[in-house]
Parts: sequence; C-alpha cells; structure tokens
Amino acid sequence: GDKGMVVSFGEMLIDFVPTESGVSLAEAPGFLKAPGGAPANVAIAVARLGGRAAFVGKLGDDEFGHMLAGILRANGVSDAGVAFDSGARTALAFVTLRADGEREFMFYRNPSADMLLTEAELNLDLIRRAKVFHYGSISLIAEPCRSAHLRAMEVAKEAGVLLSYDPNLRLPLWPSPETAREQILSIWDQADIIKVSDVELEFLTGIDSVEDEVAMKLWRPSLKLLLVTLGENGCKYYTKDFRGSVESFSVKQVDTTGAGDAFVGAMLRKFIEDESALQDEKKLREVLRFANACGAITTTKKGAIPSLPNEAEAMLLL
Ligand code: ADP
Repeated sequence: GDKGMVVSFGEMLIDFVPTESGVSLAEAPGFLKAPGGAPANVAIAVARLGGRAAFVGKLGDDEFGHMLAGILRANGVSDAGVAFDSGARTALAFVTLRADGEREFMFYRNPSADMLLTEAELNLDLIRRAKVFHYGSISLIAEPCRSAHLRAMEVAKEAGVLLSYDPNLRLPLWPSPETAREQILSIWDQADIIKVSDVELEFLTGIDSVEDEVAMKLWRPSLKLLLVTLGENGCKYYTKDFRGSVESFSVKQVDTTGAGDAFVGAMLRKFIEDESALQDEKKLREVLRFANACGAITTTKKGAIPSLPNEAEAMLLL
C-alpha cells in the first residue's frame, strides 16, 4: 500500500556539462543536459530499484520543467507533488572540472522555480501517506521554499513518517559557509536518519577526521541512524545501540556524481520494505551492503540519473 512509499522533497534541475572535459565554462564547445538535483535523484533511485517514490518540489512552466516532470514519470516516480511556476524558470547549473582541477559553477537561480514553492502548494496528503520523507538543505536557502520545507517536515512528523536528511552541501549556492553550517544544523534534531559524506562531516564539525568521536559530535538522542559515507571505503553507521562500518565494492570509478544519492535511495528502498533493519544490526549491515553496491555502480558511468542501478545490476555486483 501507500505506506511503502518514499516522498522526496527539494530541488530538481538541469546540469549543463561541457561536451569536452577539462575546459572552462567559457571555452566549452557545447553542453550536455544532465537532469539532477539530489532529492530528485533519490526518488528515481528508489523507483529504479522497484520501490514506490514521489517527488515534491516546483519546476518552471517551461520546456525544461516539463522535460524534468517527464523524466520523473518515465522512471516511475509520481509527480503528484510537483507544482509549476508560471513566472520563474527551472533551475539550471553549469558545472565543469577545469584542467587545473578546480570546479567551476554558474547557476541560474535568481530566483528559480524550485525556490518559489509555497506552503499552500504542498501536497500534504501525499506527504502524510509516505513511509519515509526525505529532504536536503538547498530548499532552506530562501523563502518561500524554506517555509514550505519546514511545514512539510512538520506534517510528516505529525503523521508518524520517518524523516531522512541528506544535507548534500553545495557550498557555492549559500550566501556564506557560516550560514550553510548554521542552517544545515538548524533542522538536525528533527530527523530520524541522517547521511553525511566525509567532506560534510569535516565541514560541519570543523575537524578533518572521520574518527568515531568526530561523528559523535553530530549524534543526537532523537536520531535512529547516522551514516557517514566514505567514497570507495564504504560507510560508517551509528545507532543508539550499535556502530560499525561496511566496506564497499571494488569498481572502476568514472564519475562519482549521484553516488551518495544512489546510496540513500537504495537504503530507503530497503527501509520501506522492512523498517526493523533500523534496530537490527545484522539486517542493517545487509541494507548498507546493498546501498554501497548501488553507490559503487553509480560511479562506473557518467552522470547521475543514467547511472543509477536497477535491482538486477545491484544483484550482479552483490
Ligand atoms: P557523496 O556522493 O555523497 O560524496 P560518496 O562519494 O561517499 O558520497 O559515495 C557514496 C557511496 O557510494 C559510498 O558510501 C560508497 O558506498 C559508494 N562509492 C562511492 N565511490 C565509490 C568507489 N570509488 N568505489 C566503491 N564504492 C564507492
């Protein structure tokens, strides 16, 4: 039934990636359109693995917005929570890894449609019917989306839905690092499940180490599960009763885009099937092995959405 659904809230956008690698944005001979936005990637990851998923957010009532809604539907993700803004346009990002190793970004967000989602536009029924409500932090940056985000979390909480949070730091989008840190941590106590990367652990604690004592600075008694992803080294997990780490799989890494989203999507896909894995270490380790496999597979191909695995591909690696 509906209780087995992941509802993912936040931004969906198009990344424009140069057709040639190692060039600056100004030198790019052309761009490929790569649909993305971490919350949308997570919803698609869940659906591709056979789970029920819906995306909640706002798109521009333009060519790109309708293209993105079509991508959700084509991947089996419900767009019943998608609103369209008739004025503002769909968010766009231009991203390149230059020859000097520096990432260069340019964003169309002044403001983009995703930032204009209002509380009144929230599909509250959809959120209440979820088993897991997942979100990031980009939707906290500006009003009115910020209030919509907070209201959606509140409604999910009241309905007994599990809250899953991946802050997914995109520093260039924030007014300052201090604002990012403060805002990301301002909703820390509401979540049941939080996943951070090793980079985010360092950013949020100010300590360059993935030792347990550092991760414990992000622990709260309100949490059911805290995860730290470690790229090729898999992940660490912390609950009130047990902690440990799970190794990932050896793959030929091509592009890590979307690996974290695949990891989260795979994990949530398992939790909607059997929530007891949150209390049972043996079951949890199985879930995280599956999540590592899905993250690993996603690094073997370019882009995020095209490289998210289906169940057969995940099973093959396992
Ligand atoms: P993020 O995308 O959030 O930075 P990570 O890079 O830590 O997240 O990757 C998320 C997960 O994907 C890791 O925990 C791991 O399971 C898997 N993964 C990522 N990179 C690799 C890799 N090179 N080899 C194997 N698994 C990987």
